[in-house]
Parts: sequence; structure tokens; C-alpha cells
Amino acid sequence: MFFDLPPTILQQCSLILDSEILSVHEVSGGDINQARLLVTGRGRFFLKMNTGKDAAAMFEAEAKGLDMLRKTKTLPIPATLAAGNTEAGALLLMEFIETGHRAASFWETFGEGLAHLHRTTASQFGLDHSNFIGSLRQSNQGHGTWPAFYAQERLQPQLELAVRSNRLPASEALRFEKLYQKLPGLCPDEPPALTHGDLWSGNFLVSNRNQPVLIDPAVSYAHREMDLAMSRLFGGFDRPFYRSYEETWPLEPGFEQRLPVYQLYYLMVHVNLFGGGYAGSVRSVLDRFI
Ligand code: ADP
Repeated sequence: MFFDLPPTILQQCSLILDSEILSVHEVSGGDINQARLLVTGRGRFFLKMNTGKDAAAMFEAEAKGLDMLRKTKTLPIPATLAAGNTEAGALLLMEFIETGHRAASFWETFGEGLAHLHRTTASQFGLDHSNFIGSLRQSNQGHGTWPAFYAQERLQPQLELAVRSNRLPASEALRFEKLYQKLPGLCPDEPPALTHGDLWSGNFLVSNRNQPVLIDPAVSYAHREMDLAMSRLFGGFDRPFYRSYEETWPLEPGFEQRLPVYQLYYLMVHVNLFGGGYAGSVRSVLDRFI
């Protein structure tokens, strides 16, 4: 038990939670933010802090995303208590999820829940606000079709960023253009689906009731196959997850072939966040489709 936080943060949290902070514990594992477990007279809470210039906007967007996902009542999502700038700096306060070990039926519950979540639809692809994926801004201007949204709001901004920072040669823009032309033939025409947006294994928790709890979203109304593609980028979730997803809402035939098209966005995000070998993976996807 220790109090390693500035008194102003502790006071602010105590005010928001309307309770004395009894102890503060470090939580490791985050990529971007500092995280703490706060033990209070009213229970346990999870605090994220960051002093970066976009921190308040990131926390506000994260809380909005969590709130949207929670409203679907499909998968458990931590309750948010405060997000954004406070007198003590930018923070995000939410319910602390008590974690446990995966047991039987975990993956089935997750797959089925995600399929139900994806049934949440909207009149167009996009979102009423921009948000973040990792620390990168994610634009969500509305478009009537998935190919238009995917090209203009997802791939093109990442391409421009990568070329500006010399992580990809400007000549790749031609191949991206060609891919944009092919998108209508590659991706099945489906309604906009509320997606988590950054669904890898670091962005869900296993609760002590064996429930999958989603965290750290980058939500938008997108193609539902985006979440499945992200979940497969690094090894994939366990098979029962995909089986149960498809039993609940089958995918259109040919998903395996078009999977890299959706993964291209996440690879581009990795190019822009981490550089290195990801540019080679981007080239391989382009080689395959162009
Ligand atoms: P970052 O935004 O820096 O990537 P994360 O959201 O991934 O941070 O959280 C950091 C750590 O805290 C991770 O190990 C994650 O498992 C854990 N965590 C995230 N949200 C909660 C929560 N609501 N309750 C308990 N632990 C959490």
C-alpha cells in the first residue's frame, strides 16, 4: 500500500468518488498511460493518468466509446466515472474489474456477445466524433458506403502520416489508390456495425466471473469484419470464439481471402506507431491485392 500520486490527484479522485482514498496500487501493462488501483471506502476504482497534450481528449473519447459499447448491453464494459481535464490534470476514472482465469465457455460467450454487439447499427459508417487508436487520431467522418469510409477515414490518413514521416515511400500512394478502387469488389456490402475498433488480446479482461470485459476501444460504425481481422493480427483468439461468432451471425463467404485488406489499417497504425518491420507487412498486403 502506498500513495505515490500527487496530493492534487488524490484530492480530485476523492472528490469525484465522494470517498476517502485508503490506498493506491500500481497497475502495470499499459502502453500509453499510467494506471493505478484506488481502494476507497466505497470500493475499488481504476485510474488512468497522462500528462501528454492529447491526454484529456484521449480520455474523453475512450469514455465515450466505453459508454456506447455498454449501452448495447451485449458484453460487460467498465462503468466510467470521470474523464478529461481536471484541476489535477487529465485522468480517466472507471470501475475496477476484478480479474480471474479463463474457464469453460469464456470464448463462446465472447464470440456470441461480439456478434450481438455488431448488430448495433447506424444510418452511415463513421461516428459523431473523432477518437484515437493508440495515441493516433482516428477520423470518423460519415460515409454512405464502407469502401468510401475505409479509404478516406482509415487508410488514407495513415498513408499520409507514414509518407510524411518517411516510413513509407510516396510512390506507395499509387498502389493504395488502386486498392481503394478494388474495395467494393473485395468487401461484402453490410450495414454499418458498432465495432470495438482495436480488438486485440490486450484490450479485453477476463473477469472473476469468467466474463470477457472490453477495454480501450476505438469505436466507430464500421465493417464488422474489422474487429475479427484485428483479433487475428497477432495469432488470433481461440477457435470457439470464431465458431460461436459465426453461429450467431455468419460471415459472408471469402473472409479468409479478404482478411488482409482489413488488417492493412492496423498494420498502417503499427507502421506509424512503431515503424520497423511493419512497413514490410504493408508491402506484402499490397503485393497480394495490386
Ligand atoms: P493504456 O491505455 O496505457 O494502454 P490499459 O487500458 O491497457 O492502458 O490499462 C493498463 C493495464 O490496466 C492493463 O494491464 C489492463 O489489463 C489493466 N486495466 C485496464 N482497465 C482496467 C479496469 N477497468 N480494471 C482493472 N484493470 C484494468
